[in-house]
Formats: sequence, C-alpha cells, structure tokens
Amino acid sequence: NYILAIETSCDETAAAIVKNGRELAANVVASQIESHKRFGGVVPEIASRHHIEQITITLEETLSQAGMVIDDIDAIAVTEGPGLVGALLVGVNTAKALAFAKNKPLVGVHHIAGHIYANRLEKEFEFPLLSLVVSGGHTELILMKEHGSFEVIGETRDDAAGEAYDKVARTLKLPYPGGPHIDKLAQEGDETIDFPRAWLEEGSYDFSFSGLKSAVINKLHNAKQKGDTLEDKNVAASFQASVVDVLSTKTYQAAKEHQVKQVIVAGGVAANQGLRKALADKFEGEEIELLIPPLKLCTDNAAMIAAAGAVAYQQGHRAGWDLNANPSLSLERYASRSIKHR
Ligand code: ATP
Ligand code: FE
Ligand code: MG
Repeated sequence: NYILAIETSCDETAAAIVKNGRELAANVVASQIESHKRFGGVVPEIASRHHIEQITITLEETLSQAGMVIDDIDAIAVTEGPGLVGALLVGVNTAKALAFAKNKPLVGVHHIAGHIYANRLEKEFEFPLLSLVVSGGHTELILMKEHGSFEVIGETRDDAAGEAYDKVARTLKLPYPGGPHIDKLAQEGDETIDFPRAWLEEGSYDFSFSGLKSAVINKLHNAKQKGDTLEDKNVAASFQASVVDVLSTKTYQAAKEHQVKQVIVAGGVAANQGLRKALADKFEGEEIELLIPPLKLCTDNAAMIAAAGAVAYQQGHRAGWDLNANPSLSLERYASRSIKHR
C-alpha cells in the first residue's frame, strides 16, 4: 500500500509517500529556517503562515516526485501532535480535506512515534527495542515491545537535549538552530572544562540539562568578567562531552537492563557526530544492534510520519472527522487510543 503523509508540527512543511511502510517513494521538506533565524527561534505565528503558503505546492511536488496521483494513495497520515497548535492545524485540516474529498482513510500520527519509525525506512524493527529520542522538544528513552506500543522509561525533567544545544549556541552567538554549529565546533576543540553530568538518582533513566546549560553560561560570564579568554571550540567540546556522556551511558544501561535486540536513535540531535560516535563505541562488540537514521531522516520530515502511519493503518487505526491538533499529545495516550472505524 501507499501512504501519503503530512507533517507540519514545527517549522518544516513536509509531505512524503511511503510504500508498504518501508520504501520511500517521495520525500519533500520545505524548511522555514531562514524566516526564523533572525528571531533566534521558531515564531509560531510565522510558522503557521508559511505552512499555509507551502502546503499545496509541497503536496504537488510530493506526488510528482513519486509519479503518482492522489487516487493511487491508500491512506492519508498526518501529525496530530505534539507541536505548535497553529502549525499542526494546517497539516491536520489539509489531511482531513484531502481524505474527505478523495474518500480516503485518515490516520493520525504522534510526531515522536514518527521520529522513531524513521529508522524503519532503513531497517526492519526487532522487538524488544529501545529508542533514544533526542530532539528540539524531547529527550526520552522509550521501550517498544511491539509495533505501536511505546513505554516511556526515562524523560527529561527540564530542558530537552536539542533545546540545551540551541541555548548554549545562542550564548556563543552562533546562528539558529545551534545544534549543528556546536557539533562542528566541538569536533575542533578539546574537553578542557569539566562540566557537570546530571546522573540523577541511582537507576533513574531520566535526564536533566538545565544545570549543565547554566554551568556553561556561568563559566562564560565569569571568564568574561575576569578577562580570561575561553576558546569557544573548547567550551563546545566540553559541553558536548557532558551531554553525550549522559545520553550514551543511560541508553546503554537501559538497553542492558531490558535486554533489547535493537537500540534506535531518533530526532534532530541524532545527527550529532559526538553522540553517534559515543553510542557506536558503547555498543561495539555487543549483540545489540544500533540503528541511527541518515541525517535527512533525523530532523523533521513526513517520511517518518508515513512510516509510523503505515503501521497504525495496518493495525486498523482510523481517525474520524473530529481529528484535531493536539499540541501536548503524549505517546502513552496515543498508544492507548482506541481503533476507530468510520
Ligand atoms: P520535537 O521533535 O521534539 O517536536 P523538533 O521537531 O524541533 O522538536 P527536531 O527537528 O527533531 O526537533 O530537531 C531539531 C533539534 O536538533 C534542534 O534543537 C537542533 O539544534 C538539533 N540538532 C540538529 N542537528 C544537530 C547536531 N548535529 N548536534 C546537536 N543538535 C542538533
Ligand atoms: Fe521533530
Ligand atoms: Mg524542527
């Protein structure tokens, strides 16, 4: 079957077509980064307007890339949450209008389920699996025992990893989004500063990055007052070492405890070179298979929504015409939704 998916949860207007849940037929992402850059972050109102302007052309481009027409599509999947409400609404309403006009089944998808399922475009899942989700708004360890089941065994108590990256980058006056810039600097620098690592209570798989973020900001502030020079690349390398150490160690411990077959990394921060390397080192020689998606599937896209939507469709999930954007939709609530037919 062919699933057409739409993703508009944040600042990329995206559409994609996936065949049989795993084969990419088309993948189009219209990024708005340039419009948000000068504000140092995503401006929700601007994001919604861009989505409205871009959605039709993005869909047309997607169909033409696949060499298909809308009648060839079996079902329409759309990100229903979490995300910016005004941004989500554009995707949800477009999907509903298309499904209604063309009499196609409609499937709602959780954005983070999408980030996880991006990996299935590369490799079939084997359960139980553990997913480390590290994105702009989420840092979670999720245990999956079967398709469509998501158990959050650890999550951030304050900032998400990507958010910490972006805030530290802003302090270093790097452009938005700062994650990739810090990553690049970190590779040139050395870990000369011993920043804290928030391990939290023994056995906890939760995360905390706000203390680290403050430590970096204080360090820079103090150095400036004393007239010391701190090299940005060393600050970046030291910050990244702390983030990567905690993420990779907790992921490894959780994978061992739950005896998983695969560990999959998802979300924009999965693009981080330091994290990729640390995880590869940790799992080297282990029976656990480590999956990290290619860079273009790490950040927001609709192919991942189609991949997750294909499974939900297969399992019989159908959204009704009352499908609505849910900016704070939780994974657990999404996983336990009832199968609805219309
Ligand atoms: P969410 O998925 O939680 O709703 P989001 O969609 O905004 O949030 P993504 O698009 O998945 O998040 O990821 C964007 C984040 O990834 C940004 O915070 C960005 O700085 C970060 N990021 C991207 N590349 C890298 C990198 N190489 N190193 C570190 N962080 C990175
Ligand atoms: Fe995302
Ligand atoms: Mg994004």
